[in-house]
Amino acid sequence: MKRVCVIPVFIPEKACPFRCVYCNQYHITQRTCSVEPEDVKQQIDNYLRTIPPYAHVRLGFFGGSFTGMPMGEQNRYLEVAQPYIESGRIREIQLSTRPDYINEEILQNLQAHHVTTIELGAQSLDDEVLRLSGRGHTAAEVEQASALIRSYQFKLGLQMMLGLPGDTRDKALATARRIVELGAQCTRIYPTLVIKDTELETMYREGNYQPLTMDEAVAQAADVMDIFEQAGVQILRVGLHPSEGLISRETLVAGPFHVSFKELVETERWRRRLVAALGGRKGGILQLTVHPSDVNAVVGYGGANRKWLEERFQQVVIRQEAGVERGKLKTEK
Ligand code: SF4
Repeated sequence: MKRVCVIPVFIPEKACPFRCVYCNQYHITQRTCSVEPEDVKQQIDNYLRTIPPYAHVRLGFFGGSFTGMPMGEQNRYLEVAQPYIESGRIREIQLSTRPDYINEEILQNLQAHHVTTIELGAQSLDDEVLRLSGRGHTAAEVEQASALIRSYQFKLGLQMMLGLPGDTRDKALATARRIVELGAQCTRIYPTLVIKDTELETMYREGNYQPLTMDEAVAQAADVMDIFEQAGVQILRVGLHPSEGLISRETLVAGPFHVSFKELVETERWRRRLVAALGGRKGGILQLTVHPSDVNAVVGYGGANRKWLEERFQQVVIRQEAGVERGKLKTEK
């Protein structure tokens, strides 16, 4: 498989008219890594110098609602990318936006500029959750936008959040299943965090919102990852990108933030597989064989799964073998 390299370009979020309760627009608009159209070429060239010529390069416009910008502004970004698409140095363009910023005219323009993937921030497909979260769109709008995007042959991505106001495990599972039904080819999964100076902070302080605990967030993320993987939906990200403000806790009020959130989730998924494979077995020597890329996750974050196994067996031997299917294990005792 060809190595895929993504050149990320963060577009500035200018005065968003929406009021998602978890969003601090000040932090978003103050983001220092966002790039104006005239700086995009420089950024692409800098990245390309570090990327091997044989790599499959994708240019990603992230960080805002791309198609919420006026068409002329969108095109100022997209036109910078066109010479690289024509030369073959960049193979794909992807961008993220809101479901209510999609229509035929927008899609025709993106198609003319060789955009290949459109990711929508769906967040939930439950109208009550969307309403309580102040998203400003309904589940039906996500469904309509998804169908339109697919009818234009774009690759569709649908991002979801866990633990939004009014959300439950059942609603999260239903959202994940609906994302699969809508034909998403890729997804991102984000646990909801209470960020400083947001409506959600007020709700939390007034006792009207309770974030997921870390264990709940990890368990729900493991559940929805199973749904996506079984359906062949590519999972592009699990957990928020750890910004400085989150790491230092300066902007974090409450919620399940961990710099290695995805590793915690993979640890949980492997613990579930171990429970299923081992049943009530205990004692003696346990020999497990897994694919080499699964070894770290089997051992678990901070060795959690190894410790769990060592409480049950006198000796635990974890071997690696390229012939074992990823996500599967062979056991001998
Ligand atoms: S999260 Fe919501 S409020 Fe924040 S920038 Fe995006 S659409 Fe606007």
